[in-house]
Amino acid sequence: MSTPFFDASVYAARLARARALVAEAGLDGIVVGPGPDLVYLAGVEGDTIERLTALVIPAAGEPTVVVPRMELAKVRDTAVGSLGLPLADWIDGEDPYALVESALGFAPARFGVSDALPALHVIPLSDRLGVPVLATEVLREGRMVKDAAEIAELRRAGEAIDAVHRRVPGLLRAGRTEREVAADISAAIVEEGHRTVEFVIVASGPNGADPHHEVSDRVIADGDIVVVDIGGAVPSGYNSDSTRTYAVGEPDPETARRIAVLVAAQQAAVDAVRPGITAEEVDAAAREVLDAAGLGAAFLHRTGHGIGVSTHEEPYIAPGNALLLREGMAFSIEPGIYFPGEWGARIEDIVVVTADGSDRLNLAPHVLARAGD
Ligand code: ZN
Ligand code: ZN
Ligand code: ZN
Repeated sequence: MSTPFFDASVYAARLARARALVAEAGLDGIVVGPGPDLVYLAGVEGDTIERLTALVIPAAGEPTVVVPRMELAKVRDTAVGSLGLPLADWIDGEDPYALVESALGFAPARFGVSDALPALHVIPLSDRLGVPVLATEVLREGRMVKDAAEIAELRRAGEAIDAVHRRVPGLLRAGRTEREVAADISAAIVEEGHRTVEFVIVASGPNGADPHHEVSDRVIADGDIVVVDIGGAVPSGYNSDSTRTYAVGEPDPETARRIAVLVAAQQAAVDAVRPGITAEEVDAAAREVLDAAGLGAAFLHRTGHGIGVSTHEEPYIAPGNALLLREGMAFSIEPGIYFPGEWGARIEDIVVVTADGSDRLNLAPHVLARAGD
């Protein structure tokens, strides 16, 4: 829990918008548990599971925060305190669901819950108030389109992770294990301005062919291709996420050729981004370049995902997603190619949709960066 990062007026506007969306969706209210939605709406980073903390936003009336009394001081230290939102506190032995009910307005006909509200609380709430709906769509509207202050934080995060990538060639050497390199990268992520390390993937040689590989004790060898996908959160809670593919020693010409195609595919998708294009059209732009070079079958996942106070969020840049992109949306462009038993490669930048195109937030060199000696 930290002091409010943005001005209280920012959170007031987000809450007002959420309330309007709740009413528009025909709901009597929503219950938002700890998680990215609660960080976004009120700057509250509570992580208690068994004791209910929840922001209750009724369609009519003021939002209320239901909170265990022992957490009260921490919650007051957020935008909740700055905005003077009503607090409904409870102690062990009392029934927090009764507080939710009165904050929603008694006996709501239809209410929603945030994706991250634990089942531990959803079930007793259902017993009391009926089965809720998911508030996913109501809540995604606000988070999906970033304002100038949020974009500034994503840019800060992008600069911090770029600084880490610029140090990676000095850390990747034949004879070191993936785990040793990852430990150095974790330290660098914090040194370069992140508050937390969210993930560090160092996937060398055949491990790079598995998009889900994290780290292992594999010893990096001369001639390896190494996928380094890293991210963390800066003090405001906004995230970085960037992948580069490194060569330890000289790659063979066919490997270099395939990676050049991947770089071109990634660039084609970045170039396609503008308001009014669909998410799936951006995905297709990357896919077409890989298909044309005979590498389409090696691309195993979607092209990208939104990013903000969580690392993966809407909009998903994927086949079948006809969502129209709008100015202020921020997401990754990260095509990859994977050759089981051999190697893999992925290039990932975060982009923001601008009035007439896109702004790339990751500027560390794309070209096959050679590492070690
Ligand atoms: Zn990534
Ligand atoms: Zn990503
Ligand atoms: Zn990811």
